[in-house]
Amino acid sequence: MAETLKMTTPLIAAEAISKSYIKGSHDVPVLRGAGLRANRGEFISVVGQSGSGKSTLLHVMGLLDAPDIGEVLLQGQRIDNLNQKARDQLRNHVFGFIFQFYHLLPELSLLENVMTPLMIRYSLMGYWKRRREIRESALSMLKQVGLEHRIRHRPSELSGGEMQRGAIARALVGRPEILLADEPTGNLDSGTGGEIMDLLKSLNEENQLTIIMVTHDESIAAQAHRIVRLTQGRIQTIAHEEAA
Ligand code: ADP
Ligand code: MG
Repeated sequence: MAETLKMTTPLIAAEAISKSYIKGSHDVPVLRGAGLRANRGEFISVVGQSGSGKSTLLHVMGLLDAPDIGEVLLQGQRIDNLNQKARDQLRNHVFGFIFQFYHLLPELSLLENVMTPLMIRYSLMGYWKRRREIRESALSMLKQVGLEHRIRHRPSELSGGEMQRGAIARALVGRPEILLADEPTGNLDSGTGGEIMDLLKSLNEENQLTIIMVTHDESIAAQAHRIVRLTQGRIQTIAHEEAA
């Protein structure tokens, strides 16, 4: 079983990613040949010290940022070098993102926030034609995260855990295959963080959602199938649940 798993093409792969930032007159390397492969349905935690490049790696994998060297592959096809329009489309269709500070739009209701990825997908005319269907999709996603009683609230009227559940609904409303989560429990108390982890685990198990989650909390990281550590710009595998 383990052998066949290894031979399948990963759903998403970062191969030998290097990336530096320019600070003043210095080139500061952040990633130095980092590689990470995720099979469909895997839930992977990425741990590492603050500043080790975890967010940078996640942004590169989700096409929010470009590598200097290396490739990002979706089912074996290179995607980091596609043109802007194709990358925008992949970001909208294939990836969902959640962040430590939720990044909900403060002037929109929760329902409107969750509708935005589909409004972007279909543009104005398409949205107008499908607005009922889009609203239904957003409502059903909000129901799935237990927020149907909060749809008219603004983000400022919600708790941290509710905002993160809203952000998860927004990330998943377009049915992406891959959820990229950057410190999703980093701003929450441990009880609320645990609820968010339970939600992510059930989405992973029930929908085969592939999740790559960055965290510096070891007890949160341990709830994934596999933990990798980013250190000195490279990925080290530190634990793997044995295949049954
Ligand atoms: P982590 O998420 O592990 O804390 P980051 O990926 O955010 O680490 O950052 C890694 C390093 O790259 C840090 O030293 C950070 O200051 C630097 N960095 C990140 N983004 C930028 C940027 N846009 N410009 C310059 N330096 C950056
Ligand atoms: Mg970070």
